[in-house]
Amino acid sequence: MKDFLEIYNLQHWNTIKDRIYTTTTDEVRKSLNKSKRNLTDFLHLISPTASRELENMAQIASKMNRQRFGKTIQLYAPLYLSNECQNICTYCGFSMDNKIKRKTLTNTELIIEAMALKDMGVEHILLVSGEANKSVDVHYFLNAIEILKPYFEHISIEVQPLSTEEYNILHQAGVHSVLVYQETYHQDVYKTYHPKGKKSNFEYRLNTPDRIGQSSMHKIGLGVLLGLEDWRVDSFFTALHIDYLQKIYWQTKYSVSFPRLRPAHGIIEPNFIMEDKHLLQLICAYRLWNPDLEISISTRESESFREHIIPIAVTSMSAASKTNPGGYKVDPQSLEQFEISDERSMLEIKNIIKEAGYDPIMKDWDSAYSYNKQS
Ligand code: SF4
Repeated sequence: MKDFLEIYNLQHWNTIKDRIYTTTTDEVRKSLNKSKRNLTDFLHLISPTASRELENMAQIASKMNRQRFGKTIQLYAPLYLSNECQNICTYCGFSMDNKIKRKTLTNTELIIEAMALKDMGVEHILLVSGEANKSVDVHYFLNAIEILKPYFEHISIEVQPLSTEEYNILHQAGVHSVLVYQETYHQDVYKTYHPKGKKSNFEYRLNTPDRIGQSSMHKIGLGVLLGLEDWRVDSFFTALHIDYLQKIYWQTKYSVSFPRLRPAHGIIEPNFIMEDKHLLQLICAYRLWNPDLEISISTRESESFREHIIPIAVTSMSAASKTNPGGYKVDPQSLEQFEISDERSMLEIKNIIKEAGYDPIMKDWDSAYSYNKQS
């Protein structure tokens, strides 16, 4: 069976870049006027030339989003389990070479954090941890899931890349979806951002979504860290990856997220600035290309951007997030992975969504509806 690495190796970063930057107005208009769009259309729509059609793109995206997802926005919150990490990533506050106090939540602390989230009305949690394979491993996750399951309807994870067998074990324990970000698809520079640790293995990370697809997980979330390399080229490769996965693992759902590099203790500045209008263009391009793709916006983004994007193309949002282990109740002062931008409460975000004429959804999944993906 092919894996994505084989597809990736047929592409060249600079060739894709040239194609994006030489897209003509005619090509953009043709892509806009289609009812079904392919990856070449996506490439046209993320080009600098297409930025002149942003208003038109936003109108089409908004209509498509309402047709496919209705006027609903799913809400979730991250629960940071641990800031221990055995990798050096030059853009992250949890990087192994950062001299910070390390913390992994105990059983009692997991319950305290769960109760704080429950008081906020949270039903969907995203469990996040650094990559400390020895101490925060599958056994730790299984124990955490066992403790947290009674409190929440929907559990997603964003942890170190695992094996297919481990993803199957976690799915059976109650995990619904897995998020894994390649950070950048630019292999030539990947190692400069990831000089040490297991994450420095570009190819192992690149094939992680294949391993998730081969497991019984329901949903895979992809993305890149926007700000490391040229967002247009990195986003084309993300779309290429999603396109490949959708064809091979067609029973799985997919989502895309847009983490923009945010300030954190001891990290690098963005190499490539992505302005709000660029992020809007990218989100619209994803929706125009892929009507089924779920689109998630986190609290990294500003209040005004998050409000602006609600009627355009978002399907899920995090709210009231804390990006440090124990951040909700146990240890609010511990160091965050990155600073959040939108600090409003869950209730405030719900009200903002309602004021825009949309329904905030806390629970979109019931384990009673679970099915075997492989059957
Ligand atoms: S990005 Fe993830 S793997 Fe890298 S240092 Fe931060 S927590 Fe560790």
